[in-house]
Amino acid sequence: MVPGVRLVVLGKQGAGKGTQCVRLSHHYVVPHVSTGDMLRGEVKSRTPLGLRAKEQMDSGELIADELIMEMVGRRLSEGDTRARGFVLDGCPRTISQATELASLLLPDHLDLVIDLEVPTPLVLKRLASRRVCVDCGANYSVSSPPLSNWTCDVCGGEVIQRPDDTEDAIRRRLDLYEVQTAPLIDWYRSRDLLASVNGTGAPDVVTRRCVKAIELRRNAGSASRSTEPSSSPVEPETRDR
Ligand code: AMP
Repeated sequence: MVPGVRLVVLGKQGAGKGTQCVRLSHHYVVPHVSTGDMLRGEVKSRTPLGLRAKEQMDSGELIADELIMEMVGRRLSEGDTRARGFVLDGCPRTISQATELASLLLPDHLDLVIDLEVPTPLVLKRLASRRVCVDCGANYSVSSPPLSNWTCDVCGGEVIQRPDDTEDAIRRRLDLYEVQTAPLIDWYRSRDLLASVNGTGAPDVVTRRCVKAIELRRNAGSASRSTEPSSSPVEPETRDR
């Protein structure tokens, strides 16, 4: 069994984060912790958090940092994530969430943050044709639907277009990504934690690039990492095209 990992995957909406996070969580045998999936679960169960979050999610706005980090903190304190790690998908989305995440993990640290790079015209195309299972979150597209009449191949749930995959909400989410989330790329780079990975191409190929970036990092040794900006030169990024 491969050793666990503590991984964050960044990338624009539609960059393929969900698909890659599931694959990486299987590869490293760690839980896939997706804040979007957790929130959609809260909405579906009509919990107080879900009822508060639904409108903001549907219009593409971000949920308050404190609510997100409380939810993430609870999940990361469970036995499975403590023991082997996690693949964190959709969080952090702001510098304040990244700071809080670093303190939640102490005395441990993230192993690596992968930035999945995909050009905006391609993510727009992917988002417009994306379809998801309402029950398990499995991803499909108009050009690659489930086998039978929009019924999920994995769990039999209904496969639909996400309520926040409308043109307006997509534009809003991409704007917020640029303003709030993209600065995290430099934030993690300055802490020597970032690997940029080309996210275009077949999912298998992208997964191999991600695993290579993680293994490169592991092999480079376990030099202790600080949550403060590093003054040492930044390692070259992994760009395997
Ligand atoms: P996702 O599935 O990651 O695209 O997330 C769907 C929606 O959930 C986002 O558009 C936000 O409204 C909300 N959300 C998920 N993760 C976060 C986060 N880390 N911070 C704030 N809002 C979030």
